[in-house]
Amino acid sequence: MEKKQLIEHCQDFREALLDWFGRYQRDLPWRRTDDPYRIWVSEVMLQQTQVKKVVDYYEKFINRFPSVRDLAAAPLQDVLKTWEGLGYYARARNLHKAAQVVVDELNGEVPRDYATFRKLPGVGDYSAAAVQSIAFNAPYAAVDGNIKRVLARLFLMEAPINDAKSAKVFQQKSDALLDRNEPGLFNQSVMELGAVICRPQSPACLVCPVNAFCEAFHATRQAEFPKRRETKPTPEHYLAVGVIYNKRGEVLLTQRQLDGLLGGLWEFPGGQIREGETAENACVRNIAEVVNLSVTNVRYLTRVRHAYTHFKIVVDVFQCDYAAGEVVLNGPRDAKWLAISALQDYPLPRATHKFLEEL
Ligand code: SF4
Repeated sequence: MEKKQLIEHCQDFREALLDWFGRYQRDLPWRRTDDPYRIWVSEVMLQQTQVKKVVDYYEKFINRFPSVRDLAAAPLQDVLKTWEGLGYYARARNLHKAAQVVVDELNGEVPRDYATFRKLPGVGDYSAAAVQSIAFNAPYAAVDGNIKRVLARLFLMEAPINDAKSAKVFQQKSDALLDRNEPGLFNQSVMELGAVICRPQSPACLVCPVNAFCEAFHATRQAEFPKRRETKPTPEHYLAVGVIYNKRGEVLLTQRQLDGLLGGLWEFPGGQIREGETAENACVRNIAEVVNLSVTNVRYLTRVRHAYTHFKIVVDVFQCDYAAGEVVLNGPRDAKWLAISALQDYPLPRATHKFLEEL
């Protein structure tokens, strides 16, 4: 196959890619709308999350909050509950806050202007470029993980894709390739290529619509790209939590502060196990420290494991009975005694769902 220099044949590259996208793109619900709010919701959900998982959540979210005004008017608790299980809850909190800014300060219109949109809570370079180009056909090149992988292979780029210092060089390449007549379709077509053809493992180069332009393909070096900076092994944290029952058979649930990991979600009180401490003692100590209660009749329930992006947790879960004290919060923003059947109305972390059935 004749190899074409990509930068010299940029227009041929764009045409080949857009032609392929026009024929083979997946039918996804957010591709059937031109509503900027819905496109925005889909882009926020798609960050760090697989398309397959997003489809169901997107439809549930849009049914529950069909417009930016509906989202802005909803209590945060409802938004988190609808987002429950999708992870990275800061995305939901920021989207909710941003919807309120759009309604309160921008007349309920998603800004058709990159700079204004970029300033909204939670909107970064990627989502600003993606939403502005897809919803308004504005000429901004998006760069996400899929796009970086494609670029790294097309150009044999040595810059590690997981190093913040590489962002500029990937953005420059993406800007140079962008089809300024069809920026929205172009951005989506590169993302689609990365998702279905130029996959992390075993890219399907023989059916790739742009293989004629690809340096890695012609040098048979696809497996070497993209480059990654070595990262430290993921740390593992050991935690103990307690499901505390009062005399009415209710359990105590605490709400995390709104900022930070799992912000606004509800959980059972607990905390880290110190070195040399048993899980049971850690459970009792953490309950005393976090909610100021003493407990009795502590019995082991189960162990659950959960992996977040930068660390893993191993949680020993205990059941116990309230013994004494008034709830005083040291860490959580709220606490409630609830019947077990009421727990399903509260947004809970994935790790909690892993043992909920055992209660
Ligand atoms: Fe990716 Fe292969 Fe296409 Fe190159 S030819 S862009 S490595 S799928």
